[in-house]
Amino acid sequence: MAIKMTKFGGSSMADAGQFRKVKQIVLSDPARQFVVPSAPGKRFPGDDKVTDLLYLAHAQFVSDADYEETFGRIRERYVSIERELNLSTDIGAELDAIKKNLENGASEDYMASRGEYLNALLLADFLGFEFVDAAELICFHSDGTYDDETTLKWTQKLEGMQRVVVPGFYGRKRDGSIKTFSRGGSDITGAIVARAVHADVYENWTDVSGFLMADPRIVENPKVIRTVTYSELRELSYMGATVLHEDSIFPVRKAHIPINVRNTNAPEEPGTMVVPDSYLRYYKREGTLTGVAGRTGFTVITVFKDNMHNEVGFGYRLLRVLDRHNISFEHVPSGIDTMSLVISDLNLRDHLEQILREIRRDCDPKTVEVQSNMALIATVGKGMVRSIGTAAKLFGALHEAGVNVRMIDQGSSEMNIIVGVESDDFAAAVRAIYKAFADEL
Ligand code: ASP
Repeated sequence: MAIKMTKFGGSSMADAGQFRKVKQIVLSDPARQFVVPSAPGKRFPGDDKVTDLLYLAHAQFVSDADYEETFGRIRERYVSIERELNLSTDIGAELDAIKKNLENGASEDYMASRGEYLNALLLADFLGFEFVDAAELICFHSDGTYDDETTLKWTQKLEGMQRVVVPGFYGRKRDGSIKTFSRGGSDITGAIVARAVHADVYENWTDVSGFLMADPRIVENPKVIRTVTYSELRELSYMGATVLHEDSIFPVRKAHIPINVRNTNAPEEPGTMVVPDSYLRYYKREGTLTGVAGRTGFTVITVFKDNMHNEVGFGYRLLRVLDRHNISFEHVPSGIDTMSLVISDLNLRDHLEQILREIRRDCDPKTVEVQSNMALIATVGKGMVRSIGTAAKLFGALHEAGVNVRMIDQGSSEMNIIVGVESDDFAAAVRAIYKAFADEL
């Protein structure tokens, strides 16, 4: 039988009404055997996330401030879910024990983790599933980093189990102390459980119907990406798109398990499938574009030198300058007489003047030009580079929008074309590219 690992984000678990939706989703498909919930999130704009309240209560306690009111708000969130759903989890007793632990000096990580712990207890009860504590499954080294090797052993216990709820976000060190992942870390728990149970798909349920092809703050009503490969996702998230973060999904990426991002509030929508690159032939794709994303805040240093392409060691001398400053670069587009360095301003900091002096000294260039305030835009779509007319369409659209393209880098990857434009042109360029390709769909 197929197995689905289903993870529900905080807004999907925010109150009793959301719990009911979750139950309907889980029970409507017998493949949904494993469930990982987050802590209750916001019920409405301006509402509290329980995890934030737990951090706050801990901070208040350690600074001798009044934490009672905060703890009361946390208590109310869980008690109301238990009451409305007629559960007999005895969440009150659990809350009493947590409060006692706080007063006895429990750690910040322990407190933060209780959001997921309590939610998972309630959900297991509501679904009639077994609760398995993440502290028995997920291991951290004593320095606080995640221990994948031990986790692989501990999670073997899930194999062959059925109908299980595992709280997201935390595990424990060998000494028994609770340790959390970084914020949003329930995604990692879901990926770890999916790998452990050899799930056929990792469903990630949130409050959006998948990833969007462009930033909705720039493009009006962008379409949802139906299928995206893991490597395309990497490019898009690197270029600033709000998608699942690479670090949070590595267990399933490595195990070649597809991810399906779904909307708890619109379960009839198919959402976005994230698939291993080799699966692409099984998925029909419309159009060439998967997504367009970009970032501002880059500087381009272009070095001109006649006959550069014949000079042995030129690139080495140029890159060595960056190496000495311990600065990484994003791209190095080059021509016969030019080589450019595209560097993020966050990395460049105040090294620019010194770097220019060293380039002049070490590379003996004809001229060096600096363009600051640049934005990079990645137009991503596997096969895009091979499909005829793609570049023409892209640059035609930018031309029509009056955008001056300052840099082009197709790199050796087949899946994206990167253009550099002035930051002022950034939004117009993203809109023009999206429109040119979205019209195909
Ligand atoms: N509840 C945790 C947070 O708010 C973890 C998660 O939701 O994934 O960061």
